[in-house]
Amino acid sequence: MNNAHVTGSFKLMKSLNRTLVLNIIRKDGPISRAEIAKRTNLTPPTVTNIVNELFETGIIKESQMGQSSGGRKPILLTIEPTSHYVIGIDVGVHKVKVVLADLNASITNESITKIKKGITEAELLQLLIENVYTIVEQANVTKEKIVGIGVGMHGMVDHIHGVALYAPNLQLKNIPIKQTLEAEFSLPVTVENDAKALALGEKWFGYGADIENMVCINVGIGIGSGIILQNKLFHGKDGIAGEIGHTVIDENGPMCTCGNKGCLQTFSAGEAIRTRALEGINKGKPTAIVEIVKGNLDNVDGEAVFEAAKAGDAFAKEVLTESGKYLGMSIANLINVLNPELVVLSGGVSRAGEFLLQPIRAIVEERVLTPSAKDTTICLSKLGQQGTVIGAVTLVLAEMFVPDVNA
Ligand SMILES: [Zn+2]
Repeated sequence: MNNAHVTGSFKLMKSLNRTLVLNIIRKDGPISRAEIAKRTNLTPPTVTNIVNELFETGIIKESQMGQSSGGRKPILLTIEPTSHYVIGIDVGVHKVKVVLADLNASITNESITKIKKGITEAELLQLLIENVYTIVEQANVTKEKIVGIGVGMHGMVDHIHGVALYAPNLQLKNIPIKQTLEAEFSLPVTVENDAKALALGEKWFGYGADIENMVCINVGIGIGSGIILQNKLFHGKDGIAGEIGHTVIDENGPMCTCGNKGCLQTFSAGEAIRTRALEGINKGKPTAIVEIVKGNLDNVDGEAVFEAAKAGDAFAKEVLTESGKYLGMSIANLINVLNPELVVLSGGVSRAGEFLLQPIRAIVEERVLTPSAKDTTICLSKLGQQGTVIGAVTLVLAEMFVPDVNA
């Protein structure tokens, strides 16, 4: 985060040793000064100095007394989550969500705005700016307490320069998000692909806490994933690592938004579920989906199919199983290639829960190479619909707390 717009307290925390100490307190707190020295290999006087500086920023506090091995009980240190705040932005296909969250990623304020069809780059950037102002006003938090803005943006993202390279559903290219927001708010801004942000959020605040290698798959209008290897987001050479939605299922399959045919996305994402449901309805398959949309077939979507499946509708279950089957194949491939400990599903389509998970697990069981890899945990995100925005908040927290986040 080498830019001129860094706030005072943020700059203070970025020194390597301070970050190291701060992260130990975050991860392992409540913790004593002596224990911090032991775990960081810093000398006790150095730890004391750093702790004193951190106290001045308000980011840590003394908490309860620890266990003593005789003599005076040590005073333990923890993070003060409401000492600072982060702004998180989730730029989806249809809406922008902006939140203010504390250092535990607990959301205190939220603002959601629809993205109109045919929005221009300037309008989109203006929309982000307006929503940030709205949140800051609502929250009644002083500017000094806000340490940064994290943005989870759908599509291809250059996370180094904070540019949205290509957002296929908005038909926009090269949007200078970081530059624009930093100029407006004089705060450090981190921009990341939404699925990658989501994976980081799941790692910090979801089921990934003690997991070194994991993949988080976002199944909604598109399908993307964030890969975490050895505790770090994996970007690959050009940042496209994780674009599982565009892996090929059938070379002669349906046309995809990327210009190729038969990508996973065209088999398992929301639109594929809708298409398959409509095909069945048009062929006269008996299904409760028609009733659920009150006969208006324009309203057939993943949600309606899920509602029908929940009510026991056999055809709706079949449609979701089909979607899960293809996802399962891709997840089995992924497990055979990366061998993660955990695969997390998120996004709108993942709300279908067991209707998707069952076929996914069955295919993985069938196709993954070793008994232990067959046992790879596959589950739904703990963060639910807030996953991406919590991920966006986590982008900033990672910059604050992890000494070598970009190493
Ligand atoms: Zn594709």
